[in-house]
Amino acid sequence: ADGISFTIRSLFTAQGKLQKSGVSFELSDDQRSIQESAQRFAREEILPVAAHHDKTKFPWRLIKKAWGLGFMNLHVPQFCGGMDFGSMEGCLIAEELAYGCSGISTAVLANDLAQAPVIYAGNKEQRKKYLGRMIEEPLACAYGVTEPEAGSDVASIQTKAVKKGDEYVINGQKMWITNAGIADWFFVLARTSSDGGSPASKSLTGFIVDGDSPGIVRGKKEINMGQRCSDTRGVTFEDVVVPASNVLGQEGAGFKIAMGAFDKTRSAIGAGAIGLAQRALDEASKYSMERKTMGVPIAKHQAVMFMLAEMAMSIEVGRMSVWRAAWTIDKGIRNTYYASIAKAYCSDIANKCATDAVQIFGGNGFNTEYPVEKLMRDAK
Ligand SMILES: Cc1cc2nc3c(=O)[nH]c(=O)nc-3n(C[C@H](O)[C@H](O)[C@H](O)COP(=O)(O)OP(=O)(O)OC[C@H]3O[C@@H](n4cnc5c(N)ncnc54)[C@H](O)[C@@H]3O)c2cc1C
Repeated sequence: ADGISFTIRSLFTAQGKLQKSGVSFELSDDQRSIQESAQRFAREEILPVAAHHDKTKFPWRLIKKAWGLGFMNLHVPQFCGGMDFGSMEGCLIAEELAYGCSGISTAVLANDLAQAPVIYAGNKEQRKKYLGRMIEEPLACAYGVTEPEAGSDVASIQTKAVKKGDEYVINGQKMWITNAGIADWFFVLARTSSDGGSPASKSLTGFIVDGDSPGIVRGKKEINMGQRCSDTRGVTFEDVVVPASNVLGQEGAGFKIAMGAFDKTRSAIGAGAIGLAQRALDEASKYSMERKTMGVPIAKHQAVMFMLAEMAMSIEVGRMSVWRAAWTIDKGIRNTYYASIAKAYCSDIANKCATDAVQIFGGNGFNTEYPVEKLMRDAK
């Protein structure tokens, strides 16, 4: 103990005073502006049409508006015409947009996931060609990893790419691909090694595949439980020819690239979950002040107060986990640990908050005329 107090005192005297600025929860002026404009866009443009798009179709009009305002393609480097936003700025936007509707938010931000492998591993020409065009017009791209037989277990994907001269020929099937129906190009993870014993870290390769390549068959838009306006489909690759110049990094580096992309995008999934949870809390708080039972607003019943307090506590903790994960990667430090915690924790929070909001709304919570049943489906 003597040793420890001596070390601390010597630090203090060496500098004359303690440096106390190690941790900051303060956003910069630019970050606050980004947050405020995303909040306005979400509340004025997204929220009022969320229920409509849940029942109808892909929100192209909003996508174009979001693109025009700069809410899409956030991390594209400046030399490609992009804004080169960090993970923190992306998380601030994701939280606000998901407050309005996490389905529309997914549609707006899905490009960031598909672009992450290109930003992470693409050479200058690939980045300029495929990222640059997203800044020039409102286009979509898709991240194609999951297959009917391989989701969590990415290492066991079966889509094959066979090298023939200066080209690869891709055959296989992808499933659950967001933006698959509208993608201008795909990031595709495929098996390039025929050696069955070769580990995933050496046998998978990442490709950029042009959306108009012959042999790409896009499946029907899936009708999902939640986030229904987002375009999710299967997509089949039948003898799709891709130039070798579209390999990301080098052959065999695909698994690392696909996983590296998650480090950059996981925090924003957590942020979106917090946006949804905050919306659930706000809707439930408002309703509980208006709805009366036994002569008082239900907010006065301690069981309801406890639920609202639990929601608020978990949202604050979850938001901090997101900020920690985003801050870490923006500092250039690997954040797999923190981003995984943020994504897993915040996804659970979103489900708990949405479920409790439905409970606080009573019978009305079960009805589509009220906003919380959609929050519960979207959270799942
Ligand atoms: C709306 C939506 C959009 C999507 N968008 C994309 C996209 O754009 N691109 C893309 O590539 N993919 C996308 N996905 C796919 C998504 O990443 C997968 O669904 C996910 O990885 C899970 O894979 P799976 O569905 O095959 O489930 P499985 O891997 O079959 O898992 C089934 C269950 O088993 C559990 N489980 C699996 N392995 C383990 C284990 N080792 N230990 C304990 N439990 C385990 C899982 O948690 C789950 O509960 C999307 C999915 C959905 C629903």
